[in-house]
Amino acid sequence: MAGVVDADGNILEKVRTETPDKSKSPKVVEDTIVELVLDLSDRHDVHAVGIGAAGWVDADRNRVLFAPHLSWRNEPLRDRLAGRLAVPVLVDNDANSAAWAEWRFGAGRGEDHLVMITLGTGIGGAILEDGQVKRGKYGVAGEFGHMQVVPGGHRCPCGNRGCWEQYSSGNALVREARELAAADSPVAYGIIEHVKGNIGDISGPMITELAREGDAMCIELLQDIGQWLGVGIANLAAALDPSCFVIGGGVSAADDLLIGPARDAFRRHLTGRGYRPEARITRAQLGPEAGMVGAADLARLVARRFRRANRRRVERYERYERYVEARRSSQDSA
Ligand SMILES: [Zn+2]
Repeated sequence: MAGVVDADGNILEKVRTETPDKSKSPKVVEDTIVELVLDLSDRHDVHAVGIGAAGWVDADRNRVLFAPHLSWRNEPLRDRLAGRLAVPVLVDNDANSAAWAEWRFGAGRGEDHLVMITLGTGIGGAILEDGQVKRGKYGVAGEFGHMQVVPGGHRCPCGNRGCWEQYSSGNALVREARELAAADSPVAYGIIEHVKGNIGDISGPMITELAREGDAMCIELLQDIGQWLGVGIANLAAALDPSCFVIGGGVSAADDLLIGPARDAFRRHLTGRGYRPEARITRAQLGPEAGMVGAADLARLVARRFRRANRRRVERYERYERYVEARRSSQDSA
């Protein structure tokens, strides 16, 4: 997804295309990005390009160290694209970009200590303090999804067991629903009927929709996910002590069905509860476009810095030229 975003975070135009196959080379992904940007540049005056990449971005925000769904491995994405696009390019992690957007234009406005948690297929996260994204020494801070919450628990694709995202994410929600349906549990009859027995068709949005319509099992599953969310948030509060947690990602569409139980569990598990101020837990406002809006806004900042540095360089050069000119004329008159 690519879009043109103005200085107030409004999306002026948006285009979408298929993500190239993971097996394809980074070159194919790069070509796709360039194509989208050039297409939008035909109709808009583009000053900078920001990329919210679903992967680990290094501390210099140049290389994508690893991306689970693309072929990027230590890929110098920023330099490659800057060479082809002729405008300043910024690359950041997608959760960092989304957190930035929520802080600038969304649910986190006015919060100087904010933690963003994105519940999608897994859990992404980001930390913002005093208007700065905390990236860590190596650029990969905020990978909250792989904190261990259940020793010896569910196996995670990351190689460990019991990671937080195995209990509180879209994948966890769907896995639990399918397990209940496969066990032919009476509580699952509603959803089994809904998918006409094709358990593989059960999806996260479907569970949310059924929960809204009052399906007891779906409500319960969202409560479980929400409860685990609250436990993890309490742990993060112990470590980071922010004033606000913004919950984004696809699963956050369940809104109070998820966030209500999360708040309850957070209060029950918060260390020092009753003797410390409680952080606000709120749903993200910008939806699936948050990452794009945030990346664009971060790129705008980089471009401004770039223009300022450029102006200083030009001014220095002009001063030098005046100096040379002045010497020449003084020598001439001598
Ligand atoms: Zn893991």
